[in-house]
Amino acid sequence: LSKKLHHLRDQTAQTPDGFRIPLYTNAGLLSDLNPSLAAGSEGIGLYRTEYPFMVRDSFPTEEEQYTLYRKILHTFHPRPVTLRTLDIGGDKPLTYFPVQETNPFLGWRGIRISLDHPEMFLTQIRAMLRASSGLNNLSLLLPMISRVEDLDEALILIQRARQELEQEGHSVTQPRLGAMIEVPSAVFQVEALARRVDFLSIGTNDLTQYLLAVDRNNERVARWFDALHPAVIQALLRIIRAGKRCGIPVSVCGEAAGDPAVALLLIGMGVSSLSLSAGDLPRIKWAINSFTRKRARALLRQSLKLEQASAIRTLLTQALVDGG
Ligand code: PEP
Ligand code: MG
Repeated sequence: LSKKLHHLRDQTAQTPDGFRIPLYTNAGLLSDLNPSLAAGSEGIGLYRTEYPFMVRDSFPTEEEQYTLYRKILHTFHPRPVTLRTLDIGGDKPLTYFPVQETNPFLGWRGIRISLDHPEMFLTQIRAMLRASSGLNNLSLLLPMISRVEDLDEALILIQRARQELEQEGHSVTQPRLGAMIEVPSAVFQVEALARRVDFLSIGTNDLTQYLLAVDRNNERVARWFDALHPAVIQALLRIIRAGKRCGIPVSVCGEAAGDPAVALLLIGMGVSSLSLSAGDLPRIKWAINSFTRKRARALLRQSLKLEQASAIRTLLTQALVDGG
């Protein structure tokens, strides 16, 4: 199938009724960049900076981070690159920064560690801002936001990093700033968060995990983990509508963005862009190029009436088989 879809590589993703939906790719290591380029990625929608931290045995210096981020921004320039700040903790431990907790997914992870260790956060932000100098294709994304204070404190630190760099004689341009929406509390405060940033990015892996109280990595409960659960669909709709009301784009960067059934619903909701694994890009492009937004909206309306993920899956799978 992938081969058949190969000819799609140089086409843009646009619904037959004219809605462009840029397709970006997720990456975590430099080795992810070539597959992204080969798949015709329009940019990096999520660079998980914790991966380069995880494969080392001590914290990378500002200079080492600068070199890495520069390489990514340069490789994709002028296409946009979204660098997410460190999201360690949870299922992503660092051997040289051990965190012992009984409930790591509810513990010290993502932005929480960054705010408790501003020196680590500032180093990373400085490296990112310097790396973007003269390229200006950087978007900066903050993970695990669960309160407005998380954003406010992070934005103050970003401002501070910028001022420090300017005082040192660097020319810095303001990156686009975004918040991950991946915790249920953020869904219920999405307008307040949206007012503080330039874009939102939905992390369906954690949002599904936290909404449904299902460990995203536990095989035993895998059948309870489903991004087509009506509660997840309601949350996605609420976030995307809030983004529209506040006039900022909403992207989806969790694994579900690569599931054509979920993608159909997101098209119907009016999602601004999707970021997925390079391997999923061709089939999602096919779905976008095959289904009008009008048709996707009709499927969304039908799905909203259903009470079970399995029924929604059946409806959308049939639509995909029929092909738009
Ligand atoms: C997510 O939670 O959906 C996400 C994109 O981030 P990660 O998988 O890195 O937690
Ligand atoms: Mg996440």
